[in-house]
Amino acid sequence: MNIAEVLKNKIETNQTVLTEFESKELLQEIGILVPGQKLTTSKEETLSAAENIGFPIVLKLMAEDIVHKSDTGAVKLNLKSKQEVENAYEELMKIPSQKEKKISVQKMADEPITELIIGMTTDPQFGPALMFGIGGILVELLEDVSFRIAPITEYDAKEMIREIKGFPILDGYRGKPKADLDAIVNTLLTISELVVKHEEINEMDLNPVFIYEKGLICVDARIILKKSD
Ligand code: ADP
Ligand code: MG
Repeated sequence: MNIAEVLKNKIETNQTVLTEFESKELLQEIGILVPGQKLTTSKEETLSAAENIGFPIVLKLMAEDIVHKSDTGAVKLNLKSKQEVENAYEELMKIPSQKEKKISVQKMADEPITELIIGMTTDPQFGPALMFGIGGILVELLEDVSFRIAPITEYDAKEMIREIKGFPILDGYRGKPKADLDAIVNTLLTISELVVKHEEINEMDLNPVFIYEKGLICVDARIILKKSD
C-alpha cells in the first residue's frame, strides 16, 4: 500500500472519512496490530470469511450513515459458531440504513487489561496534536486525557502515559497485570510519525485499543482527511 497515493485518491474523490476497514488497513500498514478482517456482501461470504478467520468472530454492519455502530446494534461480539454468525448476520440486515450495507467480519480480540483511546486532532494554530487516554467512562465522563503537539519524542510519549489520573490501571493496580507500556509508547510514536509525514490527515480516533501484558491491538478506528481546497 502506498499511503500517500491512497490518501490523495480519497481526497480527490471527496471520501474524506475513511471507513473502519480502510482505517485499520492503513494502521496495519504502519505496523499497528488490528484483528484479521474481511468485508463481505452476502451471507455465504460472511460465513466463509468467519471460518477462514477463525472463531470467535465479531460482525459489524458498515454503512456510511452508521457512525456510532454499537448505539444502533451494529456490533455483534463473540460469535462462536456458524449458527451464531448466521443469526447475527440476519439481525444486522434488519438495521435500517439508506446507504450500501457491507459486513465487516473480524477476529474477536482477547479481553484486555483495559481499553485505551489514542487519537489525533488538528489544532488550527499548532497543527497535529496527539491524544491518549483510558477508554470508557474515564475518558467520556472525567476527560482524563493527555495531549502533545506532534512530532513527539519517546520521552513525550512516556509522559503522556504517566500523566493521566488513570495511570495506576496500567501499572498493576490491585494485583492486575501491568500493561505493556512500551507498546503504547511505540504506537504513539508511530502515529506521530504518520501524521507529521501526511499532513492531509485531519483526525484519527483509535477507539478502543486493547492493551495487554504483551502488546496491543486496535479494534476500532476512524481516520478523517482534510478536504481539498
Ligand atoms: P463503535 O462504532 O460503537 O465505537 P466499535 O467498533 O468500537 O463500535 O465496537 C464497540 C465495542 O465492541 C468496542 O468498544 C469493543 O469493546 C468491542 N469490540 C469491537 N470490535 C472488537 C473486536 N474485534 N474484538 C473484541 N471486541 C471488539
Ligand atoms: Mg469504537
